[in-house]
Amino acid sequence: MIEKKGKGKGRIRCVECGNADAVIKKYGLNICRRCFKDNALMMGFKKYN
Ligand SMILES: [Zn+2]
Repeated sequence: MIEKKGKGKGRIRCVECGNADAVIKKYGLNICRRCFKDNALMMGFKKYN
């Protein structure tokens, strides 16, 4: 797999707030930590400490 430097579609942004930092791709959520925490609580996930 070749990755080109610069702007591209590689950056995944949070679907909630658009933040590209610390985005969680797991579970196909594609949301940042903060939104994940909020969504996790809403979805009934256990709270991570
Ligand atoms: Zn977010």
